[in-house]
Amino acid sequence: MGILEVKNVGKRFGGLQALGDVNLSIAENSVHAIIGPNGAGKSTLLNCLVGKLIPDTGSVMFDGQSVLGRKPYEINQMGISRVFQTPEIFGDLSVLENMMIPCFAKRDGAFGMNAIGSVMSQTDIIERAEHMLEEMKMADKRHMTASSMSRGDKRRLEIGMCLSQEPRLLLLDEPTAGMARADTNNTIDLLKQISDERDITIAIIEHDMHVVFSLAQRITVLAQGTPLVEDTPDNIKGHPKVREAYLGE
Ligand code: ADP
Ligand code: MG
Repeated sequence: MGILEVKNVGKRFGGLQALGDVNLSIAENSVHAIIGPNGAGKSTLLNCLVGKLIPDTGSVMFDGQSVLGRKPYEINQMGISRVFQTPEIFGDLSVLENMMIPCFAKRDGAFGMNAIGSVMSQTDIIERAEHMLEEMKMADKRHMTASSMSRGDKRRLEIGMCLSQEPRLLLLDEPTAGMARADTNNTIDLLKQISDERDITIAIIEHDMHVVFSLAQRITVLAQGTPLVEDTPDNIKGHPKVREAYLGE
């Protein structure tokens, strides 16, 4: 049993069958990539996992519990955190202020409360946020305006904001889209480090094969809303259909 079990998930938008019959099992503490051409249904699938969309058919189980019918914040509290395709940070706020937001709404307590149920003071929140920025090696940037940072650093901040909630499953939708090569490589290193050092499962949707093959232990290829093949990176590289579709051979 994987930490995430997707069974027979289907999703239709009007006349369009965006997801046909998706079965997917993601092993705990692994890095699992989902690849596929534009319009394959990757983001739709992710949206079904985090409660942004409700599938028409099938089930989604996280750690033995159904996520279906739960609201996005409830699924977040279950331990699933998500990084969106475009960075979702507050550009006008400082790096520290951005980090304070998820620290205020941390998973182990109710909103604005600490683990033992008393209201968190601003000092507690700042302390948590600064600690997280140190872990993300961003402490020196804490007074910078978030919008003035590079794309890679914005992504690093956003990933740190997710990690501050101590998720067990981190979902990323094309985290390196639009990045320069150096920022992409930094993001790969960051995700590798997170996967090595933390008790966390990472599911990543990614277009860039360099990123996929640098990180993933398992790869699912989605085509027209249905998994075409799921295998190890080495086998995926050698798969004739995948070579044709993605590696230009
Ligand atoms: P991917 O992320 O793999 O590029 P998406 O999941 O975004 O693909 O989209 C899959 C298909 O569903 C596409 O044809 C897209 O146009 C369609 N689609 C996605 N979201 C919606 C929506 N909210 N309403 C209607 N069609 C949608
Ligand atoms: Mg997408």
